[in-house]
Amino acid sequence: MRIRFLGTSAGWPLPRLGCKCEICSSTDPKDKRTRTQILIDDSVLLDAGPETYNHLISLDSIASKLKAILVSHEHPDHILGLWDLPHIYGRAENNIDKINLYITHPVLNGIRRVFATPFQPIKPTIVKPNQTFNINHAQAQYFPVIHGKTPAFGVKYKDGKILAYIPDFNRILPSQQRIIRDCHLLIIDGSSLGKLGQSPTHISIEDGVKIAQNLKAKNVYFVHIGHKTGTHQFLEEYLRKNLPRRQAGAGPNFHIAYDGLELLV
Ligand SMILES: [Zn+2]
Ligand SMILES: [Zn+2]
Repeated sequence: MRIRFLGTSAGWPLPRLGCKCEICSSTDPKDKRTRTQILIDDSVLLDAGPETYNHLISLDSIASKLKAILVSHEHPDHILGLWDLPHIYGRAENNIDKINLYITHPVLNGIRRVFATPFQPIKPTIVKPNQTFNINHAQAQYFPVIHGKTPAFGVKYKDGKILAYIPDFNRILPSQQRIIRDCHLLIIDGSSLGKLGQSPTHISIEDGVKIAQNLKAKNVYFVHIGHKTGTHQFLEEYLRKNLPRRQAGAGPNFHIAYDGLELLV
């Protein structure tokens, strides 16, 4: 699987308008973050935040081949880009007439409260939590997570190897953790570091490390990075200093994702 991290910020992009803090004035391109969004194999989008159009226009030839979208929950940083997606052209040439929006009922209800108009040619297909469905050669599944009072889901995507995507949550039940045990790539909520940027509806990077170790995830990338969490360099150093030294070939590999990062899994 080819994984592109199109965006990696929390609810608002970095730098923040008018802010002169260390993160917002950083000259490291890895500190310029847009809303969290992942593209799998140039055809499946995870989440559809406000920068979806900007993300896809830079991958113009790919946009016209987009086949499916999955949305973790109804918060604006994960859905506002749906407004632009029907206006992708050149799809007939690729024999693709619609984009399948695989979605759970509560999340579609949340989207409908924001967008009353139909999404032609986006075609919603309702899937149940924990139901497995096929996209291309892959099996996908939404699993429930706790994100304050908002219905929210993680995504398991298995195409040979297993990707688990959980950008927004404050708790995940053991029964749901079992579903993504031994995943090859865990993309997980990194909204805060300890008290830096702490929010009751999100985990911290420290919590994420514990969860990932418990899951025996092989590679872990933090996304949904907040305004107060830290610069990319600071957070990478934090992980290097505070994690048990990696044994050769064993144990998870932890990183802070950044916009534009690409991985082959
Ligand atoms: Zn979010
Ligand atoms: Zn959220």
